[in-house]
Amino acid sequence: MSHYQKPPELYEGLRLHQNENTGGCSPRVLEALSTLRADEIGFYPPYAAATDAVATYLGVAADRLTLVNGLDEGIMALAVAYLRASIGGPQLEAIVPEPAFEIFRFDTAVAGGKLVQVMPHRDFRFPLDEVLAAITPNTRVVFVTNPNNPTGVGVPMDAIKTIARRLPAGAVVFVDEAYAEFAGESFIPELDAFPNVIVGRTFSKAFGLAGLRIGCLVGAPATVDAIRQAVPVYSVNIAAVVAIQAALSDLDHLRDYLRQVAESKTLVYAACDRLGVKYWKSRANFVLVCAGDRTDALVTGAFLRGIYLRDRSTEPGCAGCLRMGAGIVEHTARALAVMEEVLCAAR
Ligand code: PMP
Repeated sequence: MSHYQKPPELYEGLRLHQNENTGGCSPRVLEALSTLRADEIGFYPPYAAATDAVATYLGVAADRLTLVNGLDEGIMALAVAYLRASIGGPQLEAIVPEPAFEIFRFDTAVAGGKLVQVMPHRDFRFPLDEVLAAITPNTRVVFVTNPNNPTGVGVPMDAIKTIARRLPAGAVVFVDEAYAEFAGESFIPELDAFPNVIVGRTFSKAFGLAGLRIGCLVGAPATVDAIRQAVPVYSVNIAAVVAIQAALSDLDHLRDYLRQVAESKTLVYAACDRLGVKYWKSRANFVLVCAGDRTDALVTGAFLRGIYLRDRSTEPGCAGCLRMGAGIVEHTARALAVMEEVLCAAR
């Protein structure tokens, strides 16, 4: 398997291709960063206050949570902890319902695990029966993203519970909740009853902190402990530690972004309806749009006008699809004007 190809470094135009908050973080984060002292930067960072702030926000005890340098780091640590084979033992398996966040595939390969892909239904409804059928005694991780990236479609809580009940001992369901704030739903309240489920969260999306790299893993202490051993010590830096506390003290900033995301999605759906372009109703801050054979013209045309969209047409079940961020209303309006211009010209 080839390595993950980072999207090109495009920072001049409008970045609607990586599901970031294009409005950025709360001003309180900037204030907090500006108060950092030289000695604080000189020391290894303290984690306790940031861990407590995140635990309070998520409504869990601090011993159920570990901070990570972006959820990407959490996923890699989880893959290493759960998919590394013991000497002479069988290759351990990771089930990935597709289309999925590509990192699951790459991290499974890095950890030496075997990738078991479950192909999607045409409507992207969660393929529960197919996931259950893919479970074997060697399954160690089932990767589920709710709501899913790149489709924006939700996963029923009951499906996650059913998978958790059917897994062999020592296996976990990883519920990636990178976009949970937008859906207003989380598996976290269920974790007490499901010690073999781990929830991953990030502050890159709803809180606009992608550049600082902070996320967390939440689960039963023993389950999370196994992963903690694979997380580098002090991987969360002092700027992120300070920033997360400031961000969580300004939930009005979050609420404003959530309101704009909801409005943006309504605008995207209306534009797609007008233009005769298919889309999936999204519970996240992006929309998967299927412009079929016009997708390439749309991605390229938008690129030439300084708006970056993500071509997803090579992902399983996504032929002819692109993903566009739907966050700050003014940015969405700019993207939709370009979409109209390009698609009308391509007719
Ligand atoms: N999981 C999913 C489903 C994502 O889409 C992303 C970001 N693209 C991540 C995890 C990684 O988040 P972070 O920025 O915290 O590494």
